[in-house]
Amino acid sequence: MAKIQSVRGTYDLYGDAKRKMKKVTATGASVVEKYGFEEIETPIFEFTEVFARNLGDTSDIVTKEMYCFEDKGGESLTLRPEGTAGVVRAFVSEGMQQNLPVKFYYHGPMFRYERPQKGRQRQFTQFGVELLGVETPQADIEVIAMAYEFLQKLGLGNQVTVEINSLGDAESRDAYRQKLVAYLKQHFDELSEDSKNRLERNPLRILDSKEECDKAVIENAPRYADSLNEASRQFFADVLHGLDLLNIKYRVNDRLVRGLDYYSHTVFELTTDKLGAQGTVLAGGRYNGLVAQMGGGDVAGIGWACGVERLSMLLDEDVALPRPIAVIPVGEDTNDKALEVAYQLRLAGFSVEQSYSGNMKKRMAKANKVNACKAIIIGSDEAANNTVMLKDLDSGEQKIVAQTDLIKELN
Ligand code: ATP
Ligand code: MG
Repeated sequence: MAKIQSVRGTYDLYGDAKRKMKKVTATGASVVEKYGFEEIETPIFEFTEVFARNLGDTSDIVTKEMYCFEDKGGESLTLRPEGTAGVVRAFVSEGMQQNLPVKFYYHGPMFRYERPQKGRQRQFTQFGVELLGVETPQADIEVIAMAYEFLQKLGLGNQVTVEINSLGDAESRDAYRQKLVAYLKQHFDELSEDSKNRLERNPLRILDSKEECDKAVIENAPRYADSLNEASRQFFADVLHGLDLLNIKYRVNDRLVRGLDYYSHTVFELTTDKLGAQGTVLAGGRYNGLVAQMGGGDVAGIGWACGVERLSMLLDEDVALPRPIAVIPVGEDTNDKALEVAYQLRLAGFSVEQSYSGNMKKRMAKANKVNACKAIIIGSDEAANNTVMLKDLDSGEQKIVAQTDLIKELN
C-alpha cells in the first residue's frame, strides 16, 4: 500500500508551530475585543454563489483557486476561500441590519487551490474582523489602528509597514478604470498574456501584476489619485489625518488595489520583507457595496484578515508552555497518594505532570525534560504521615510539607 500522506499544501500543526498560531489568534482576540468586536463562527462551506457572485467573477480566487464540489443532493458548494463573504452572508440571512454597527471577528481555516510554497498553503488559517454599518472615516481609522496594535502586541511593530491607498467611490473608480484601460490599450502588445486577458474584465488587477513586462508598463500608468472626486479625496485625507493623530506610520502606495472587486475607498496591507514574495501578512479595505449585493440593503462595511501561519513564522521566540509541577511517587503504595495530590493541585489551578512509571531517577529525568519548576516527591514515610517532600528544581532546595499546607506553600 502506498504511504499515507497529507494532501499537498496542507499541514499537521502541533508543537511550537501550533503554539505560535494559538498565540497569534489569542493576541488578536484580546486586542479586537477591546474595540467591542465579538466572535462569530460561520460554516466552513457555503453555496458556491456566496463566493462566486460576491468576490467578483474575475478575481483570482473565483477563477482559479476555489475548492468547489457538488454534494450528494446536487448542490454546488465551496470550501470558504476567505471570511468576509460568509460573515456578510450571515449578517444578511440573520437580519442583523436592525442594530448597527455590527462588529465581528473570526478565525479558522480557509481553502485555496494555489501553488504551495513558503507562506502559501492550500489550507491556511485567517484571523479577521468586519465592521458593518459605519460610513465615516472613523471606522477606517479604527480598524487600521486595531491591526497596528495587534502586530505591535506580537512584537512585530518594527518589521511591518502599513501601505494604504484609496480607490474612491464608484464614480471615481469608473473614471480611473476608463483612463487606465485607454492607457493599457496603447501598450497592449507589451502586456503579459494574463494581463491581456484581464484588460476588459478586471483592468485594476493588472496594477497588482508581478510580471516584469507588466511592471514596466504600469510604471507610467495614470495615477489613481488623479481620478478621485472631491468627496473621495476628502474621505482619504480624513483617514490619513486620523492615522497621523495616532502616530501610526504608513506609506501611501498608489499601486495598491487589492484583488477583489468589492473594495471602495480605503484599501491597506501590512507587509514585511521577511517572507520573500509572501510578504503581505494582513490585508483589508472598505466594501460599501457588498451587503447590498447580497440583498441586505445599503450598509457600509470595512474589515481585514491576516494569515495566521505567516504571522507565526515571524515570531522568533518559541512560545513557552507553563512550567508544570512534577508529582513523583517513590516506593510501594505511594501511587494512590500521588494520584490524590496531583488531582488536588490541578483543581487548585496548577499545571501538574504525573510520571507514570520508572524508578526515581528515571522519573526525575522526565520531570526535567518537561521543564518542571518543582517536584513533589512522595515516599512511603511521607504517604503514611500525610506529608510530601517539596523540591525546587532550580535551586535544589527541599523540605517536608504537610499535605494540607501544600497549596498555600506553592502559592
Ligand atoms: P497574496 O497576494 O499573498 O496571494 P491575497 O491578496 O490573496 O494574498 P487575502 O485574500 O487578502 O490575500 O488574504 C489575507 C491574508 O491571508 C494574506 O495577507 C495572507 O497573509 C493570508 N493568505 C492568503 N492566501 C494564503 C495562502 N494560500 N496561504 C497562507 N496564507 C495566505
Ligand atoms: Mg492570493
